[in-house]
This record gives sequence, C-alpha cells and structure tokens, in this order.
Amino acid sequence: MPYLIALLTLLLFSSCATSPTGRKQLLAVSESKMSQMGAQSFDQLKKQMKVSQDAKANQTTKCLSYDLLKAAGQNPTEWEVVVFNEKSPNAFALPGNKIGVHTGMIDLAQNKAQLAAVIGHEIGHVLANHGNERVSQNMVVQGGLMATSIALGGESKNSQLVLAAVGLGAQFGVLMPFSRKHETEADKLGVQYMAAAGYDPREASRLWVIMGGAGQSPPEFLSTHPSPSSRVQYLQTYAQKYVTTYENNRSKAKCL
Ligand SMILES: [Zn+2]
Repeated sequence: MPYLIALLTLLLFSSCATSPTGRKQLLAVSESKMSQMGAQSFDQLKKQMKVSQDAKANQTTKCLSYDLLKAAGQNPTEWEVVVFNEKSPNAFALPGNKIGVHTGMIDLAQNKAQLAAVIGHEIGHVLANHGNERVSQNMVVQGGLMATSIALGGESKNSQLVLAAVGLGAQFGVLMPFSRKHETEADKLGVQYMAAAGYDPREASRLWVIMGGAGQSPPEFLSTHPSPSSRVQYLQTYAQKYVTTYENNRSKAKCL
C-alpha cells in the first residue's frame, strides 16, 4: 500500500517534458534534487580519484567545455570542469553542472575536435535530462519504491541506482548503460554543439572509430555508453548537415 501511495504521488507530481530533440519525457524528480545528487556524486569522485594538475590537460578540457557550453546556451562559469588522472578513456557530465574527463580520454583523442565530441555528447545527456528520465522510468517500474527513497533522501542501493542512471555506473559498481534512444540523442546534441562552437562535427564519428578499436576489452566509457552498431554511419551522415554551421562558426572556436 505505501508503494501505491508513493506511485500515485509520483504520477501526480511528475511532469511530462519534451527533450531538446522533441521526444516526450517523464521527469519525476525535481531539477534541484537531481542537481544535488549530481553534485554530491561529483564531490565523492574527487575524493576517490586523483585530480590532474597537468596544466595543459586542464586548460584544453576547460576551454573546450566552455566553448561547447556557450554553444549549448549555458553560462560556462556556472559549470565545474575537472580532469581526473585516470588511464581509462572515460568522460562524464552530471546534473548540477559537473563535467569530468579522464586523462586517458584526452590521450585517446587525436585532436581537440574529437575531445570536444566526447564532452559535447556528455553535455547532451545532461541537458536532455537523461538521468532524470531514467530514474523516473525506474520509479514507475519499481512501483514507487525508489520514489519513496528519493523523497526521503534515502541512501544505499537506491542512491546507487540514481548514480547509475546519471551515467556513473562504472565508478559505483552498478552498470546501467544508456539506451540507444539516449545515446543517439546525446550524439545528435553533441554534433550540434560542436558545429555551433566552431569544431568540425565530422570528427565525432572518427572518435567513435578510435574508441571501438582501443584495447582488447571495450573502454569503460563504452560500458555505460553502448555503441549502437550504426553509430559511426549515422554520425557521418548527421554531421554532414552541420558542416555549413561549423564553417560559419569557426572563428568562435577558442581552443584550437
Ligand atoms: Zn552516452
């Protein structure tokens, strides 16, 4: 019975939103709650992993993030960008305006536009509220169990699921890969931000080719961002639509 009440409460207070690419979304968690959870997780990660002091890596990552955020209509000064000294090629962005990039990802990218592609993809997940949507879907599936937990500020297993939902599965041991729908949407948004910021959107598909070929086992990034088999092909086609935008905005790219 408590679950039923929680579920009814959830449905009463959730909002039906529209994603940046026009999809209908169920968003059941308040934006402030998502931001709070994202910020807490980020603080935890800064304690767990070594923050890189490499000046060049930090400068490049911050510069690219700022350009992309501006292109996405954000105020970059309201975002925190941290480079982690980690060999695994990984990157993530969290609600609460947080971006984390591993040095392994910086090393893997062959140029700055490719690094911009990864960061743009991650910003896309956040600005399209994918974490909130995933938590909301889980709430419905679990009959409000998670809703109750989140409403009460619950810890433990449920907060782990929330972390997995925002894309931190690998770090916290609960893998919940983004769906194809979310991956494709983040890919498209990433390409749009790249082009508007003056970075060649055609580098996005090239980055995914490199990522697919990196090492024997798939990189950590691919475990939470599964590669739809058609990704490289559709990204090539999709990026073509934005080549003119990119050419018109080349002067905006501050980090090349
Ligand atoms: Zn992704």
